[in-house]
Amino acid sequence: MYAQVILPLAIPKTYTYAIPDEWSSRISPGMRVEVVFGRQKKYAGIVKQLHTEKPLAFEPKPILNILDSEPVVTEQQLGLWSWLADYYLCSEGEVMAAALPSNFKLSSETTLIYNEDFGDDLSALDDEEYLLAEALLLRKELRLQEVQQILDSSHVYPVVKRLLEHKVCWAWESLKEKYTEKKENFVFLHDAYQAEEKLAVLLNARTHAPRQMELLMAFLHLSRTEGEVRQSELLRKSGASAAQLKGLVDKGILVVRKLSVDRIRYLPKDIQIDFTLSDAQARALQEIRGVWAEKRVCLLHGITSSGKTQVYVRMIEETIAAGGQVLYLLPEIALTSQVIRRLQKHFGGHIAIYHSKFNPNERVEIWNKVRDGSVRIVLGARSSLFLPFRDLRLVICDEEHDPSYKQQDPAPRYHARDAAVYYASQVGAKVLLGSATPSLESYHNAVSGKYGLVELNERYGNLLLPEIDIIDTRSTGLQAKERVKMMISTPLQETIRQTLSEGKQVILFQNRRGYSPYLICGACGFIPHCEQCDVTLTYHKLQHKLQCHYCGTGYPPVVTCPACGSVKWMERNFGTEKIEEQLGALFPDHRVARMDVDTVKGKTAHDTLIQQFEQQRIDILVGTQMVVKGLDFDHVHLVGILDADGLLSFADFRVNERAFQLMEQVSGRAGRKDLQGHVMIQTTNPKHPVLAWVRDHDYKAFYAAEIRSRQDFGYPPFTRLIRLTFRHKVKAIAEAAAHYMAGQLEKHYRDCISGPAEPVIGRIRNLYIMELLLKLPRQGRVSEEARMLIHQQRAIMEGDRVFRSVLLTCDVDPV
Ligand code: ADP
Ligand code: ZN
Ligand code: ZN
Repeated sequence: MYAQVILPLAIPKTYTYAIPDEWSSRISPGMRVEVVFGRQKKYAGIVKQLHTEKPLAFEPKPILNILDSEPVVTEQQLGLWSWLADYYLCSEGEVMAAALPSNFKLSSETTLIYNEDFGDDLSALDDEEYLLAEALLLRKELRLQEVQQILDSSHVYPVVKRLLEHKVCWAWESLKEKYTEKKENFVFLHDAYQAEEKLAVLLNARTHAPRQMELLMAFLHLSRTEGEVRQSELLRKSGASAAQLKGLVDKGILVVRKLSVDRIRYLPKDIQIDFTLSDAQARALQEIRGVWAEKRVCLLHGITSSGKTQVYVRMIEETIAAGGQVLYLLPEIALTSQVIRRLQKHFGGHIAIYHSKFNPNERVEIWNKVRDGSVRIVLGARSSLFLPFRDLRLVICDEEHDPSYKQQDPAPRYHARDAAVYYASQVGAKVLLGSATPSLESYHNAVSGKYGLVELNERYGNLLLPEIDIIDTRSTGLQAKERVKMMISTPLQETIRQTLSEGKQVILFQNRRGYSPYLICGACGFIPHCEQCDVTLTYHKLQHKLQCHYCGTGYPPVVTCPACGSVKWMERNFGTEKIEEQLGALFPDHRVARMDVDTVKGKTAHDTLIQQFEQQRIDILVGTQMVVKGLDFDHVHLVGILDADGLLSFADFRVNERAFQLMEQVSGRAGRKDLQGHVMIQTTNPKHPVLAWVRDHDYKAFYAAEIRSRQDFGYPPFTRLIRLTFRHKVKAIAEAAAHYMAGQLEKHYRDCISGPAEPVIGRIRNLYIMELLLKLPRQGRVSEEARMLIHQQRAIMEGDRVFRSVLLTCDVDPV
């Protein structure tokens, strides 16, 4: 017998291995096997298929070990992998690398990292496990090559696998960034007081100091509302001191444990639905059910704050009551504590959160629980689509318009929403796409009848949509030069002042980070550029350096202009850091904070900022896109969009769609509960049609105009795009490769090709770039055939002496 094995590599096909006879009865597709590939490198690959056809051209190598007794990947998942590889022009190995948690992906390059939580009791291990665990305990980290030397056996991978299962260590791919675990002190009630009666006795005892009693009450309150209590949060909220906490610990009432911040929380498995749907929401729910009687996919177009989440919650409840599983997809940055807390409140331990920041042991744990059905609801970013659901019946894709559903790098460059729609059709699940500003593609699918469409046009509690003012920054009385310097116009300043004086909060949105995107020589106009990329450098004041946002290289700030010798520099296009500074000067008595990738390193930083803002310990929040997503604040009255021009001037056919979505979404943060919000948009082009649609909250007018222009210019959803990018350190080779491919494609798709051309940024990290864009008709099998041709030509290029070194990436349906 032979097996086709998928290896976690960017190799175009699967490889054939021979199965030793004695193993043929215990191997099946979806299991991992240890094999040698290339020059003695070992990998854990996945069996895709079993067959009896001996390859003619070569003598297949034998499988060294079977690592699993049951498949880790289901047949349906293998089907998804194969579809993704085919549709998105990559290899199944690349899909495998993205799909599996690192503990499942062993290779000679893997590093094992000792799990400190395991402790040092190795008594339960067998001899080989013990040998390896002891080495790990001493050295903390071992490469699999070193493991080979320690064990000196042909059974390395099975031993490693057992150690991973015992959680003695976890596996990490050394090529990637190192995994670091964040730990924090958490406070728990001592086991002795877990029972209600015991706790009541304790609380009635009245022998504790009053401050300790207050602290204890604060602890109980927090543990009831949040589930888990961080020491830092408890001390902050209760105003107690560490010594007072220690007092309760010494008395054996509370316990402090240092735990990983991201670890899985074990909550009770009960369901609590403590709200009733409004009439409009109930109607929407009914309509969605109606749609599902006929169609698989339903688009829920619900304006901001209409309570889409509430509708999802009811759908989830129904689905799990009927015994099914639910996948709730969210864009990565919307996976904030807010949404997580809301869902955990309703579904407790039924819900699991899955994303790349968890430690690999815990990712495997969720993987297994999804497979055995003990986890019913997964809330996760795009990679959670790869979990081995046993009975998936509902996929919710919230904020379905969000471009971050598309993976950019590395391959597979897949769109999680579209892949979810495909997968759901394979497993028979229903799909609910939700957004206040649906993507053109989805809305087009809905109005053309492919998907169902349900609308929710009322905000919950009859809240009004915010009032929107468009400020023409040309007429604020400032000179042109002043205008560039001052990003916050006088009317906006006055409104901010007014809002703050009423005790309300302000969000300011600027789509750029950094202090000012660039410096320009005041005398000759010279702009400092990155030496390796064709882009201007961004000035970061805090670190006092210039930085390239493409490759990350930092440069010392320029003093004299290399072109003319002048020392006068001007700043252009202000970023968030600069605005934060101006706000500090304008409102010295208020607290200003900034939210962008520079201030929000790591997941907890984001949560902390959000919580501080929720608790009104910040008055003005300045931020990039991060302030837009998945957030719900009660006291924000004013939202300012500082530079609408910047949003409206990208050279991309989706510019209007993105600008509309961003402005509408960010506006949705203004006004909650009892107060109409206020939005001010600064622009030098107040007549721009997108601004009028945003002002009138008129999605339909936006859609009607935009879909017409997509049709006129032949863009999606009327065509399918494939972008091919060629990178090489020699410009002429990148060009030659692009022209070669264009020549091959032109034979069949002459009218569908634009380029080859140099993109706006023609060089990144010292590699020259050429692009080729295919705009293919959606009818028939055209795009399938084009993909096949690209596959073939890529294989030819890989075999060519010169073109082999060109980096070719294929992006299907680029966003
Ligand atoms: P969306 O996701 O459509 O922007 P949300 O689901 O976040 O809207 O709802 C906005 C706010 O209104 C939330 O604070 C939510 O708790 C509240 N809300 C919405 N519907 C209900 C309901 N039926 N009962 C109680 N609160 C609701
Ligand atoms: Zn100069
Ligand atoms: Zn650079």
